[in-house]
Amino acid sequence: MVSKELLDILACPSCKGDLEYDQEKDTLTCMNKHCPECGMPVDENGKCQDEECGKVSDHFAGLCYRVEDDIPIMLIYEAEKIPR
Ligand SMILES: [Zn+2]
Ligand SMILES: [Zn+2]
Repeated sequence: MVSKELLDILACPSCKGDLEYDQEKDTLTCMNKHCPECGMPVDENGKCQDEECGKVSDHFAGLCYRVEDDIPIMLIYEAEKIPR
């Protein structure tokens, strides 16, 4: 369970976007466009903003962060990538 106060200040570490909290699954999800490979944001052309990755893709991923012992694990590489 993540407190409302914490939810208010948390943002996606990849794109700084808003997160949606799923109380049942106890997960935080950002459904903005991220690179399906590395999870970094992509620009309007579908190009990954991470210089080392640089992947251009026509599909994107949302990021789902899990919560452990009431602490959200806000790590891009730990987040589950959800095709979108
Ligand atoms: Zn995001
Ligand atoms: Zn990438």
